Amino acid sequence: MQHTVLIVEDNDLNMRLFKDVLTLAGFRILEAGDGAFALRQATDERPDLIVLDIQIPGLNGLEVVRRLKKDAVLRRIPVLVVSAYAQAADRGRARANGSDGYLAKPFSPKALIASVEALLPTREPQTTGG
Ligand code: MN
Repeated sequence: MQHTVLIVEDNDLNMRLFKDVLTLAGFRILEAGDGAFALRQATDERPDLIVLDIQIPGLNGLEVVRRLKKDAVLRRIPVLVVSAYAQAADRGRARANGSDGYLAKPFSPKALIASVEALLPTREPQTTGG
């Protein structure tokens, strides 16, 4: 079964990277460039997982996590928070707000796929090639 991942990222190059890596890994991708649209996409599409950049316009990623985790239904969607390595305090804040995983930029494609798959326990093992 194909899982759907909602990618929330405002930077076009980063979005492209996320999208390419996760598409190649077999995921269906939804995109949002800001926090308000991310919450709307989560509500309307119920993705299996959300990859969420902290630094996005409008509602920032931490606020998006907080709102998702307050919702009785949406709280079940695993959230992988992504932020710049320099922003070390983000990891603690993300965890405090209820995020399920954390990945610091820059990261390798392998690390991204591993982090996503770790939050999808029912996913069938797949060969990623190479
Ligand atoms: Mn950003």
